[in-house]
Amino acid sequence: MDNLRPRLDALQAQSLYRRRRLQDGPQQPQARVDGRALLSFCGNDYLGLANHPDVIAALRDGAQRWGVGSGAAHLVNGHSRAHQALEEALAEFTGRPRALLFSTGYMANLGVISALAGRHDTVFEDRLNHASLLDGALLARARLRRYPHADASALHRLLKIESARLIVTDGVFSMDGDLAPLPELAALARDAGAWLMVDDAHGLGVLGRDGRGSLDHFGLGFNDVPILMGTLGKAFGTFGAFVAGSEELIETLIQSARSYIYTTATPPALAEATLVSLAIARRETWRRERLAEWIERFRTGAARIGLQLMDSSTPIQPIIVGSAAQALAWSAALEAAGLLVTAIRPPTVPEGTARLRVTLSAAHTAEDIDRLLAALEL
Ligand SMILES: *Cc1c(COP(=O)(O)O)cnc(C)c1O
Repeated sequence: MDNLRPRLDALQAQSLYRRRRLQDGPQQPQARVDGRALLSFCGNDYLGLANHPDVIAALRDGAQRWGVGSGAAHLVNGHSRAHQALEEALAEFTGRPRALLFSTGYMANLGVISALAGRHDTVFEDRLNHASLLDGALLARARLRRYPHADASALHRLLKIESARLIVTDGVFSMDGDLAPLPELAALARDAGAWLMVDDAHGLGVLGRDGRGSLDHFGLGFNDVPILMGTLGKAFGTFGAFVAGSEELIETLIQSARSYIYTTATPPALAEATLVSLAIARRETWRRERLAEWIERFRTGAARIGLQLMDSSTPIQPIIVGSAAQALAWSAALEAAGLLVTAIRPPTVPEGTARLRVTLSAAHTAEDIDRLLAALEL
C-alpha cells in the first residue's frame, strides 16, 4: 500500500490532513483532551444533555433490563418495545403519524433518498447540504442537481427546466448555522409536485416551540414538509436518528430502505436514554433560553471586537478564516490559550472558506463565553 503515501503527504502539505484528538471524559464544556483541560466550543450537545445524570441513569437501567446489544436487525428480531415507544414519542413530538428509528443520521439520509428516488428521477439539493444527503442521491443513482445555497429563486428557475422528485435541504446548515428558506422551498415543492425533505439535525431541540425544530420555527407542518429527518446525537445528547412522516412513507422505508433493513438495531437501552433526554429537552425550556442568551452574548461581544460573523441565529457561529493553514493556526493559538475550537476545512466546507466553527451550549456559562471572546480578541 505504498502508493497511498503520496496522497497522505499531499494532504499534509495542503494543511488538509485530519487528526483525531483523544477525549478523556464526557462531552461537556470542561473537556479533557489529549491529557489537558480545555474549554470546548465544538460539540453539538446544544442543550447539555449528553452527560445528564437522568439520561445516564436511563441508559444504565435500560442495560439492566434489555442487556447491551439488540442482537439483530429491526426486521429480524431486534425491534424492542423500547424502540417502539421512542418511535411513538418522536411521532407525537413532531406531530406526524409515524416515525422510524435509524442507526445514524448518515444512514437515515442514505435510506430515505435511495428508497424514494431512482435512476430516472431528479433530486434537487442545496449546495451546502450535509454530505450524507448528497451521498443519498448518488446511492440512488438519481440525477443530482445542486442549487446555490439557500437560493429559492435559483431553484425556481431550475424547476422550470427539469421536473423534480425530491427537494432536499438542511433545516439549519451544519457548517454555517443559517436557516434554509423553508416557506419558499415548501411552496416551490408544492407547485412542482415534488416532495420536500428537511434534515433538521441542528434545529430539533433548539428551535421552535418546545424544541420542535426549524419547521415549527417557520410555522410549517406535515403538509408543507412531508419528510422530516432528525438526529438524536446532537441536541438530544444520545445517538441515532429518525425519519417522521406519513404511514405510507414509513412503511415504504421499512420495506425498502437498505440502510434500515440490513443493519443491527441500536441498543434498546439507548432508546430508553433518548426517551428521557427527549422529555427533558421538551420540558426544560430554560435550556433553550440560556442558549439564546449565550448566542446573543457571543454575537454582541464578537461585533464589539470587530470579528466577522456569519448571519446565524443558531448555536453554530462560524468565524470564516479563509485558508486551511490559517484556520489551523487560529485553532492552535486558541488551544494554547486553553480553548478547543476545531478548524473546519475543505472538503467539509468550500475551498477558501476554512473556518473556526464555534458552537455554543446551554452547558456553557457566561464566563465561558467571555473567556472565548477575550481569547479571540488577541
Ligand atoms: C450530524 C449530521 C448528520 C449525520 O447524523 P449522524 O447521526 O451523526 O450520522 C446528518 N445531517 C446533518 C445536517 C448533520 O449535521
